[in-house]
Amino acid sequence: MVILTGYIMGESYGLLGPQLAATIIQEHSPYDCIVAAVTREDDKKLLKQYLADFFGREKPLIAFSYLGGREDLYRFAKELKDEGALTILAGPQSDLDYLGEDAWQDHPHRFQGLSEFFSVACHGPAEQILPFLKVSSGKNRQYSAGMLWRNKKGAFFQKSRSPWNPVFLKKVLWNNLYRVGENDFCPHKITTAQVLWHIGCPYAASITPWEIDYPSFLATGGKKTVKIPLRGCSFCDVGADKGFFGALNSETLLHQIRGLPEKEDGRKIPFELINENALSGLYPLLQSIISKKIPISQINLTLRADWFIRSEARLRKVLKIAKDMEIRILLASVGFESFDSTILANLHKGVDTVVNLKAIRLMREMKHEFPEQWGYSKSEGAVHGFIHPTPWDTYETEMNNRKIILLYGLSLDILPEYSVPLIIHHGSALGNWVREIETRETIQFKREGTIIGWWQAGDRFVL
Ligand code: SF4
Repeated sequence: MVILTGYIMGESYGLLGPQLAATIIQEHSPYDCIVAAVTREDDKKLLKQYLADFFGREKPLIAFSYLGGREDLYRFAKELKDEGALTILAGPQSDLDYLGEDAWQDHPHRFQGLSEFFSVACHGPAEQILPFLKVSSGKNRQYSAGMLWRNKKGAFFQKSRSPWNPVFLKKVLWNNLYRVGENDFCPHKITTAQVLWHIGCPYAASITPWEIDYPSFLATGGKKTVKIPLRGCSFCDVGADKGFFGALNSETLLHQIRGLPEKEDGRKIPFELINENALSGLYPLLQSIISKKIPISQINLTLRADWFIRSEARLRKVLKIAKDMEIRILLASVGFESFDSTILANLHKGVDTVVNLKAIRLMREMKHEFPEQWGYSKSEGAVHGFIHPTPWDTYETEMNNRKIILLYGLSLDILPEYSVPLIIHHGSALGNWVREIETRETIQFKREGTIIGWWQAGDRFVL
């Protein structure tokens, strides 16, 4: 079996989700399974040839994951399906992407789903697919938990998901990632990896009723809002897809860390801890890593600004022990998203501009106190979130952002070269917001695959 994923040319990062799924299939099913990372530049004819060589006389069984809205890969999946392969749409949002946008049958401009492109869809956890793989063809095939399919008459069927089982989350084979080489798939050496601590995000643990402003380009006269229920930030795929399923125990975590690849000096490659609130438990984790004698080199963190500033005392303890261990802690990403409180409220970030600026002050202070152990800046590899344009931009919000970026010198160390436009996935809470506005105002926003498009080209901030 091959799990085909989107990838970026020249990169060397590991892909936890697909590589973990391939590990589970390799170790618990009759199939050999690799992950093929495919960039936009890769030659699809070559890729097809390598897939044919890989499967030989066997019926091709190809899952697609982490597609990032890439239409070239959807079309490639359809081509393979039409030629007889069994194609599986997998990964986050795979069920919603297979089903299509809410009520698309009554609204032809909406995203009509990917059921024409893939034989079936399968949402995680990955081990759910194991019963299906026991018999992968013929009348005896049993659809298993988390699977979604469409019959010949066009009706959809879906089996409900199983809960996550930590037993399957202990081990990842990090040597199963391949690229499209000159003559065959070639092993791809990774230099960073991820370790799963939290499944989903605690900020998305519960559903909150919220009011989101109309886009400023539609707001005339008094303030108009749309009431929608949210899980976490209004734009977030993780929040909408997983909510929060809890934390893995330290034994599972240490098992994952022990299994990471090593660098030439014998230490583990840098890894991202997937936990938006990692500082609350990082000190005890580092103590366990010392007692188990696991030689690590660098931990990358992705944190919320509010939870980061709340953990200042813990951070000092962490950096002191990091000094003894001769390792680095890189704050690789904080989702600041904006420095205007109106926009932050519409994104339901749960923080305002003051909190974001306090976080930046602390990030910079720590660099003075722990120059060798602490990293946070773009020159050290961090990519902090800044979303622009947004549908709520006005003259005032633009002025607020520009003033703060200039006053606090954010272009020097914090903000990336380009901002990222607000991406609205049709399955996110903002997808419901768009559909409500379309209904009220009898307008239509453009669909671009799984994304609802609204911005104009050239609207990004150049920082
Ligand atoms: S954007 Fe980050 S903080 Fe917000 S819900 Fe998603 S994962 Fe959680």
